[in-house]
Amino acid sequence: MTRNEAISTHRNQRHGKVLACFPMQYPRELLTALNILAVEVWGPPDVTPTHEMARIQAYVCPIVRHSMEFLASKEASQLDGILFPHTCDSLQGLATVLTDFGPWDKPVFHFTHPKGPLDSPRRTFLRKEFQHLATQLEEWTGETLTLEKLRDAIALHNHLDSLRGTLLEPTGQTLGPLQYELLRRGEFQWPQTWLEEIQEALAGVSVDVSKEAKEGGPARLLVSGIVPEPQGIFEALRQAGAIPVADDYAAIGRRICHVENLPDDPFDALMARYEALPPCPTRGASVDRRIGWLLERARSAKAEAVLLHNITFCEPEMFDLPHIRRELAAQGLPVLYMETELGGELSGQLATRLEAFVEMVLDARRKG
Ligand code: SF4
Repeated sequence: MTRNEAISTHRNQRHGKVLACFPMQYPRELLTALNILAVEVWGPPDVTPTHEMARIQAYVCPIVRHSMEFLASKEASQLDGILFPHTCDSLQGLATVLTDFGPWDKPVFHFTHPKGPLDSPRRTFLRKEFQHLATQLEEWTGETLTLEKLRDAIALHNHLDSLRGTLLEPTGQTLGPLQYELLRRGEFQWPQTWLEEIQEALAGVSVDVSKEAKEGGPARLLVSGIVPEPQGIFEALRQAGAIPVADDYAAIGRRICHVENLPDDPFDALMARYEALPPCPTRGASVDRRIGWLLERARSAKAEAVLLHNITFCEPEMFDLPHIRRELAAQGLPVLYMETELGGELSGQLATRLEAFVEMVLDARRKG
């Protein structure tokens, strides 16, 4: 199902509103409980530049520049409103330009993350943010958010996260472009439909649970970054002789937060799921926590090397980069850093770097 099909199915069958949601993290459970379809805006990768993009400085990341163009386009008229999580300065800039000077005249909502560790004041703040957004969305949709609806939506997303985690487990040859395509379908798919698609995919997959690097097998990589674009990235990895066995993309693995025993109170349950999120610089996680998380992911998946894949001009990722590179290398993990734009093809130069890196990793394996 394409994004446009998901939107028209939602309108025709569930008669709900459609909310454009910006990266990275937002309480999607609230939206589901209020019959709102979340359609995430990660660019999109390919847009035709017009004068709209010129409102954003050229040194701002392509997610923001492309979004400006997209939101001015005819296609965006299908959206009923926008949700901006308080993620980075670039997105806040977009929120201002778009509404003050730009083409957007529909409702805009904000969700502010408490930056840093969830101590008592930040927990209070976060709970109020959940409640404030819930009230605003209730008024907008005319729907009533009952505790039962919210509890059901949280259980659904918690189950989804558990299945997404299973799909992302190190599965030998099975984690590839098709699995990523399915994981990314959740950026616009109604959650129940997405859950059924993942269940079906998991049932048809023969999972190789071996976490050992096999002689002659592909190099095992931990991949980390914002979003796996351009789309050819996984095919380029496969052609270079590598597979991702652990994922820390902000769009994918860094948003999975399954909690075994959810508290009965739905707002406590929202807090518990939020707390279970992997560390991300866009929510103010310390670099030490991120390094610990990446090392733990690499070890548990028996990754042999790390691909740090950034989108150009992404400041939150770039701030952490020197520390992460240094510490992972100090722990014996070879690291390749590369930057890409969102759209187009992976350049020949990057593909060659990828091949040389993978060859080095496989050579180290052969030498033991
Ligand atoms: S977190 Fe990075 S990639 Fe995402 S919108 Fe902000 S600057 Fe752009």
